[in-house]
Amino acid sequence: MINLVLFGPPGSGKGTQSVKLQEKYQLMHVSTGDLFRMHMRENTDLGKEAKSYIEKGDLVPDEVTIGMMNAKIESHPEAKGFIFDGFPRTAAQAEALDALLNSKNTPVSKMIALNVPDEELIKRLLLRGKDSGRADDQNEEIIANRIQVYNDKTLPVASYYEKQAKLVEIHGLGSIDDIFNRLCAVIDTLA
Ligand code: ADP
Repeated sequence: MINLVLFGPPGSGKGTQSVKLQEKYQLMHVSTGDLFRMHMRENTDLGKEAKSYIEKGDLVPDEVTIGMMNAKIESHPEAKGFIFDGFPRTAAQAEALDALLNSKNTPVSKMIALNVPDEELIKRLLLRGKDSGRADDQNEEIIANRIQVYNDKTLPVASYYEKQAKLVEIHGLGSIDDIFNRLCAVIDTLA
């Protein structure tokens, strides 16, 4: 079983690469952002709560996020492994994920971090905002807040996995296929 944490700032390409990796390695792609957007579309209680944070570019509280992810993982006992995209984003989330996966004897195999400079992130997010209609991608202030929240709260999660010797960093500029090949080179060492 391979469990990957795909890590990187907003706009670093986690979602794009996850879709390609899911297909190649037959892993289940779980994106917290996609799950929250689904709850918002369906106007569930969780969606209503998440919306107030997401529209400001803040993180949804840990207990809500962790509860949603635990339920998602538990509901797929058939999965051959997971690609976690956008999770964990805080130290508490990383600890919760370890606790759950270790209890199933299927620990995180690697965290792969996509390194992309801030100027490129802002460009990509504004472009995505035009195409996707995502409100949090259309406003430069909200984007700046997301990058700041990433630097303050999420970057420490990389050190958490580095201490477990699980962190691999990848250059996140280049074509989608170039970056995909860099990711595959790392994953192929795990099989
Ligand atoms: P991006 O990576 O471009 O920021 P996502 O779709 O992953 O986009 O996330 C969108 C928003 O959902 C985030 O700005 C945040 O408000 C919320 N979110 C996503 N994942 C998490 C998480 N693990 N913990 C808390 N909030 C999250």
